[in-house]
Amino acid sequence: MFRSLAPPEYLATIDRVKCIRCKRCIQNCGWGVYSWGGDKVLIDTFKCVKCLRCYHYCPEEAIEIKDNPTRFKQNAYWGYNNIRNIKKQAETGGIPLTGMGSDLPYTILFDNLLIDACQVTNPSIDPLREPMELRTYLGKKPSSVKIEKGKDGKLKLAEPAPPQIKLEVPIIFSPMSYGSISLNAQKVLATAARECGIVMNTGEGGLHEDLVPYRKNIIVQVASGRFGVNPDYLNAGVAVEIKIGQGAKPGIGGHLPGEKIPLEVAKTRMIPVGTDALSPAPQHDIYSIEDLRQLIYAIKEATNYKPVSVKIAAVHNVAAIASGIVRAGADIVYLDGFRGGTGAAPSIIRDHLGIPIEHALAAVDDRLRQEGIRNEASIIAAGGIRSSADVAKAIALGADAVGIGTAALITMGCTTCGKCYTGNCSWGITTQRPELTARLDPEVYAERLINLIHAWTHELKEILGALGINSIESLRGNRERLRGVGLDSFTLDILGVKPAGR
Ligand code: SF4
Ligand code: SF4
Repeated sequence: MFRSLAPPEYLATIDRVKCIRCKRCIQNCGWGVYSWGGDKVLIDTFKCVKCLRCYHYCPEEAIEIKDNPTRFKQNAYWGYNNIRNIKKQAETGGIPLTGMGSDLPYTILFDNLLIDACQVTNPSIDPLREPMELRTYLGKKPSSVKIEKGKDGKLKLAEPAPPQIKLEVPIIFSPMSYGSISLNAQKVLATAARECGIVMNTGEGGLHEDLVPYRKNIIVQVASGRFGVNPDYLNAGVAVEIKIGQGAKPGIGGHLPGEKIPLEVAKTRMIPVGTDALSPAPQHDIYSIEDLRQLIYAIKEATNYKPVSVKIAAVHNVAAIASGIVRAGADIVYLDGFRGGTGAAPSIIRDHLGIPIEHALAAVDDRLRQEGIRNEASIIAAGGIRSSADVAKAIALGADAVGIGTAALITMGCTTCGKCYTGNCSWGITTQRPELTARLDPEVYAERLINLIHAWTHELKEILGALGINSIESLRGNRERLRGVGLDSFTLDILGVKPAGR
């Protein structure tokens, strides 16, 4: 008898000659692929998600995980995922969920943009010999400054500058809540943020007491579920973020199943143990820019005027929405593109709603400049930042800084298998099962994440040097230093970028 009309995606195999029956694969797999059959390891390949934990921990390299060659007949129109989802829906009547960002082959604009370099008449700079400034301040900037002499005779600002968040590099860790990821994963982010002089974001799950010592490197988030929100929480970080939308699932809310709500998550979110944590699609007190303004200023008053960020998903009219957000008083606009990651989203939403961050960012930066309010707020671009080249291109398209989520999780072992919503992550990242979360040692994995940020920092300095500039500020919105390859004139127009050769 068949178990499902959808064949397994992957074939897990063990070389029986190499296998020494140590059972590490059984211990390491969070999905229950392996079991002990008395004299050998048994394999249930239907459960395999290709997270590769078993492969890495097999001492004999006896395990191989292959894409199942027995897939449906190749068809350019009826793709594998179309047929598989129909079969799954016919079996369950449900909505197929997924994790991580969309993997559909839409054009990746970052890969069609190339960065300029100095030659002959405009000398490049050697970052190993010259200082390079990557420090970035997020927040409202005054349109002009007045300088006056203080009582001590020294020059000073006539009016205090608006509050800013200082970043040593223009990178922050994207919001990922306790509940959707483990506390150890959050500790990795917090430790790395503190070490690198940047910030992490709590996401909508409240702030666990173990993270309080990292408060100078934390942005706390207020989302539609209001989990964990109280005056202490609002004042715990360096800024507060109002989450309106998420790039991976624009227009819909969130649902963290009760199995992922053990005691500590429940306490932090201020909800009962084992209950589903439902985040409504809209914020029930925000139906207009005026409503948003009220919430922004309520938070500012509750926090003695800390910066307030507003996070939105990149959608079709994102430029007009961003303009309204800035006029409502936000200090930061956080744009999350449709390739942004998620712990759980209906795959139909993740793969078909929203727009890429590259389009959204260029449109928002353009609109804010045209309206003369670009200085009123910083822009954070997120949703598919994969390398320091993406960081540089995003900044040239108009971002002040970028948010990285998936890249940070990859340093913790994530292989982007996309099964976060099951709560069985073998790497201990998107799970609350204690035996799995215990394997994510915060100190060990923080070191890896710190290494990544340091490596990208060096690469960014190399890029700036090749461009002949010594400050990241000089790259911001500097689209003249980008060229497009293989992009149509409409896309180039939206990006504000010339084609290569011009
Ligand atoms: S981890 Fe490798 S060697 Fe150990 S039982 Fe599994 S397949 Fe065999
Ligand atoms: S966090 Fe874990 S479950 Fe999610 S994609 Fe990465 S490896 Fe898979």
